[in-house]
Amino acid sequence: MADPSRIKQFSVEGLRSLLLDWGEPAFRANQLLHWLYAAAVDSYQEMSDLPLSLRLRLEKEAPLIAPQVLDKKLSADGSLKYLLGLWDGSLIETVAIPSRSRLTVCFSTQVGCALGCAFCTTGLGGLVRSLDPGEMVDQLLVVSKDLGRRVDNAVAMGEGEPFANYEASLSALRIMNNPTLLGIGARHLTVSTCGLVRQIERFAQEPEQFTLAVSLHSAVQSTRDLLMPSLCNQPLGRLRDSLLLYAEKTGRRPSLEVTLMDSVNDTPEEVSALLAFSRGLLCHVNLIPFNKGHLPDAGLGFRPSPPARFNEISAILQRAGVACSIRRSRGSDIQGACGQLKGALHG
Ligand code: SAH
Ligand code: SF4
Repeated sequence: MADPSRIKQFSVEGLRSLLLDWGEPAFRANQLLHWLYAAAVDSYQEMSDLPLSLRLRLEKEAPLIAPQVLDKKLSADGSLKYLLGLWDGSLIETVAIPSRSRLTVCFSTQVGCALGCAFCTTGLGGLVRSLDPGEMVDQLLVVSKDLGRRVDNAVAMGEGEPFANYEASLSALRIMNNPTLLGIGARHLTVSTCGLVRQIERFAQEPEQFTLAVSLHSAVQSTRDLLMPSLCNQPLGRLRDSLLLYAEKTGRRPSLEVTLMDSVNDTPEEVSALLAFSRGLLCHVNLIPFNKGHLPDAGLGFRPSPPARFNEISAILQRAGVACSIRRSRGSDIQGACGQLKGALHG
């Protein structure tokens, strides 16, 4: 029998088998899931259709501890950054990006990150711990409650590497996707990975149509090794093979994220390598502005590429038949943009 300590650590299936192990009828799991992830209540007391004895047992053996909103910052562009305190005192950041037609949430999958990419603030403090599935879903629920509207898109692009916490991230996406829970369409749920090859291959086999984004940043091996030193054992050739497999298995188009840094990965040599990597691959290249942090070592030694380079590189790729977009950065004035989240470093 499972040994529960927190209710938010369970997947949908895990929760079903826990309640069956406890001798509960099968429909109880649906009731509990509804309260946790559709009604999104903060305590077992509010789960009025669960028998009192079950509520007490859950309280004792699988406590429900809701995240606390410790801080909230509003950007001039309308995006919001939330600082959340978790049951063990860990801190994470979540970003909401509302527009008139949709609400996107950028959620964290870990507290900190072990990968330590050279340009990313999240990696500075290392990994504190991985998040439970329910702790990822809770980030969407917090935003949804605060803004009084449903979440239409969710992207695992906050703190952490989702594929270094694969099972929990997939379980979270399934709760988000479940039509009786958050009901967010699979194509509106995106995982961003720094490029862990075995997990990309595994993701290709999953039945849902979740969206994949891969942080490439450079198609020159020596540059990528400099930017993403933890991935030097996963050479670019293997990464490309895994993307070919992904395209073959799913027929879907992953995006390749390239954060442009002046004189690092925006040179003619880099652009030729990016072209060679992406040509013949089902993919969409996103060019992203580099965000400097506000710490004393802001920028971590890197500078953003000038805007003109974005247009030049995009034009070169498109002329060669590679789909390419230039992404606007949101929330940089509240340190809420890509690579600036650092909840673990607050306390
Ligand atoms: N660990 C995952 C997801 C979280 S990072 C990944 O690396 O893909 C989300 C995105 O922000 C990634 O594409 C990452 O490369 C990018 N990023 C990190 N630091 C950045 C910075 N300083 N400026 C712009 N983008 C950054
Ligand atoms: Fe981790 Fe992604 Fe930041 Fe790299 S870019 S340190 S993988 S969060």
